[in-house]
Amino acid sequence: MSLKYTHRPGGSANCPECREAISKQANICPHCKSDLKENEDWQKTKESGGCAALIAFSFIGLTAIGYTVNWILA
Ligand SMILES: [Zn+2]
Repeated sequence: MSLKYTHRPGGSANCPECREAISKQANICPHCKSDLKENEDWQKTKESGGCAALIAFSFIGLTAIGYTVNWILA
């Protein structure tokens, strides 16, 4: 996971369509021209800080898998 790449200062995030770093203020991706106003993933990224939420979700997922494995092995 490229944490340093996705977490950068200045209010930028990765486009949900092409994964290029763009401003969170953008309504249209300058790289792939996606209409981000209509993109639910992008709206969530803008609201939640994007990669932090993604990392948190990964953590929850891994924890859940860990618990399941423990439960199966117990
Ligand atoms: Zn894009």
